[in-house]
Parts: sequence; structure tokens; C-alpha cells
Amino acid sequence: MSFYHSTRSETNSVTSKQAILTGIAPDGGLYVSDELGSTRLSLETVCSQSYHQTAALVLGTLLSDYSGEELTRCVDAAYGSQWDTTAVCPVTPLGTDWLLELYHGPTCAFKDVALQMLPQLMGVARGANGEKIMIVTATSGDTGKAALDGFAGVDGMGVTVFYPAGKVSDIQRLQMVTQLGGNVAVCAVNGTFDDCQGQVKRVFADRALAERLSERGVVLSSANSINVGRLAPQVSYYFDSYAQLVRREAIRPGDEVTFCVPTGNFGDVLAGYYAKRMGLPVRRLIVASNANDVLTDFLTTGVYDRRRDFHKTISPSMDILVSSNLERLLYFASNGDCELVSSLMGDLAEKGVYTVPESVMEEIRSVFSCGRADDAATRETILNTWRELDVLIDPHTAVAKHVLDATPNDGTERICLSTASPYKFCADVLSALGEVTDGMNGFACMDALEKLTGTVAPPQLSGLRAGTVLHDDVCDPERVGAFVESACARVFL
Ligand SMILES: *Cc1c(COP(=O)(O)O)cnc(C)c1O
Repeated sequence: MSFYHSTRSETNSVTSKQAILTGIAPDGGLYVSDELGSTRLSLETVCSQSYHQTAALVLGTLLSDYSGEELTRCVDAAYGSQWDTTAVCPVTPLGTDWLLELYHGPTCAFKDVALQMLPQLMGVARGANGEKIMIVTATSGDTGKAALDGFAGVDGMGVTVFYPAGKVSDIQRLQMVTQLGGNVAVCAVNGTFDDCQGQVKRVFADRALAERLSERGVVLSSANSINVGRLAPQVSYYFDSYAQLVRREAIRPGDEVTFCVPTGNFGDVLAGYYAKRMGLPVRRLIVASNANDVLTDFLTTGVYDRRRDFHKTISPSMDILVSSNLERLLYFASNGDCELVSSLMGDLAEKGVYTVPESVMEEIRSVFSCGRADDAATRETILNTWRELDVLIDPHTAVAKHVLDATPNDGTERICLSTASPYKFCADVLSALGEVTDGMNGFACMDALEKLTGTVAPPQLSGLRAGTVLHDDVCDPERVGAFVESACARVFL
């Protein structure tokens, strides 16, 4: 059985099912298991099996209180026909490097890999007669739709999403307001993303609301990227992409590879570190940041300092100043020093800055490299990758590609993670290719991008044209709690 405890204290252990249902530990830390790395996966096995089999193997290793049968059911439900390729996360050539395409799911962003799986894992964990769970989330664009799609139609669960009115792209808004399912709710908020997030935090802290819902057998939960149930599924594609390179005879089993990861909350690249601890031959993990380069500075200096300006960039899913999942790396790199992690996180909360001891930084730097790309470099990379390699990439992927190109080649095969379809960010991709997009809506940009490049928009996005708007609620920030309560009443009664 895998037992999980907080990164900040070892006193209370829970099973992985409990960790997945709770999300965050009661002391504010993240759930970790000291068994990470005690089981190493056989490369021979991984190289001879499908994505689905590898996903079940990885999950069975990290979440060992789930039965093999339960996990096979979860994997089949999460990675079925809603993906546009049975490979799930295919690897394709990118010049002399490789592109790991993580955007073939129902919402065309890498969040699908985790958010198609999390609801399945939660569903098994809550059991047939458990409390009903309402997921509540604020979104600046990508996460909301991925959560809606993942939780839609799952028994005993519902999902409510708030987005800032007028502040998400046309395509992102349409993705959310056309969402089908009797257990979903979507509401625009008159305010910013921070207003949405602030209000959602207040909803979670509202004891009176929690009691009223509890009387009806309902609890609120989040689908936050610190949940073990989001982290674990992401480890699979590190192993599977390695297997694909072996099958292409680009590497032999045992050869080391390097991954470059466009990073925001540090969940994606941390999954690569988990894969390394589980036996994947990883030479280096390169953390690529946009102009919000707090991680580049941290990896260079050992000082994490969030006291800086926030930049709104063309890779918005990486516009983050506090990379929550970094706390797990600090735990493992310090050999499980809860006291250290707890004091660093205390510094972050009180002063906005912490300094990691040099011995821990040495361990981190032995695996992690870093680099940054501002918007100008991102645009230039989109243009050059298209012109020179005939590969169309989105702005998040372009950040990673720029950083990979700037990193001296260490002789390993190198894999650049691609986290979104370029068609999710049509306007910015088009303008990077030198087109004028003033006054064009999302679909006009989509048409223009198809015409210019001869590529085809994914049907998940072009099909939105025919979608019916099912959610037109708009509320003021102070009404967010009331909206959640009425959504619970509608979904569960
Ligand atoms: C969320 C997201 C990222 C960042 O991933 P983290 O796990 O938060 O580091 C990068 N690209 C896209 C498109 C995303 O949606």
C-alpha cells in the first residue's frame, strides 16, 4: 500500500485514495509518498506495451491501494475515443529533436492527460455510497474546460467553473459555454481571474455553506494541479515517449534522454522527475519559463523570490509567480526534510521569498536546467519552427523550443513537450507568422491559419461553430458562493 503524508509533516499518513479525495494536506502541504523510487519500472516491459498499459503500470506503482482492475477501468475511460489518436501522446520529429504532443485530448491542451483521469480516480475513491462531490474551480482559460470535460457525466460528482467575463479567448469561452452534461455549471464573473480565484477560495473557507451542503451529503473539492491524482497520470507519458523512441530505433533501452518542459505550476516537469526516480534514464529536465521567470532565477541562484511584477504573456497558462508543485521537489531533493520545507514555505507566505540551502540546490541542479523566453523570442520561434521545420507550434511549446535551442546539445536525444494545439491560440500564432489579426474573431483566425499553413484545425475546436450556448450566467464576484449552492441543488437533487 502506498501511504502519503504532507511535505510539511510526517505525522498523519493517508492512503492514495484519501490523498486524491482531499487534494491538499490539512497543514497546507502537498501529499508525498516516501515509497517513490522504491519500485523501478522495467524498461523492457514499458517498451513493449501500449500507452494504456504503461499508464496502468505507472498508476499502480504510485497509487497502490487501487486494484489493477480498478485502474484498467479508469485508464480505459480516461484515454478512450475522446482522444483523436490511439497513441494518446504521440512523439513526432522536430528537426534533430522530438516533439511529445500532449494535446490530442478533448480540449486540445495537455491538462486533459490529467483531468480525464482525475475524475475516474476520484469516482473509485469515493465508492458507490460516498458523499457527493462538487468540484469548484476558477479558470483563466485552459483548466476550466479540461475540468468540465473530465467531470461531465461522472456519477456522484459535479463541476462548477467560473471564468472572468470578457477575459478569455473567443475559443476558450465557447469551449466552456457549450459544455454538455447534467452535472456541469459555468458562470462568467464580472471581474478579473484573481477576483474569480479569490471568491472560489472564500467559498472553500465558508463554514456555514459547508454545513448546509453537508446536510445534503455534498462536499466541495478542487481539481487543483497539486492533487496526486493529477500528478500521477502525467508520469506515464515520460515513460511512453521513451518507449516510442526505442521503437523508432532512435535510442536503445538504457540510453539517457533529455526533456524540455514549458513550465508554470511545475506539475508537468515534476512528473518527469518522478519518472526518473522510477527508473527512466533521464539525463536532464529543462524548465522553460516565459517572462514570468521566477523559476529561472530560482534554479540559477537558489533564491525563490515572488516579489516581482506579473507579466501577462502570449503563453498565459505559464503566467504564474508561485509554482506550487515545486514544494514536492524541495521535499525529495532534501531527502524528506519536512522541517526545512515547512520553514521555506513559511518564508514564502510571510516574506514572499525563501533561500534553499546549497546542498539541496546541488541535488536539484544535478537534474534540472532552465531557461526563459519572452514574447518576442516566443513569436520568433513559432515563425522559425514553421519556416524551417514545417512544424506549427503553440506559444507555450515555443517557449520550450526556444529554451531547448539555447541549451547546448549534450549528445542525448531530446524531447520537447508540446502542451497545446496551435489552434487554441490562433490569433497569437497567426500574428507570429506575420499576419494582421486586428478585429478578427476566433473563427476568422482559425480559417486564416488553416489557409496560410495548409494544416487543419482539430474538430474539437472547429466543431464549436455548430455548438449551442448552454451556459449564459453572469454574476458579480460576491454572488459566486450563491451560484455554487444553487448549482449543487440543481445537480444533486
Ligand atoms: C498548464 C499548462 C502549462 C504549465 O504546466 P504546469 O504543470 O503548470 O507547469 C503549460 N502549457 C499549457 C498549454 C498549459 O495548459
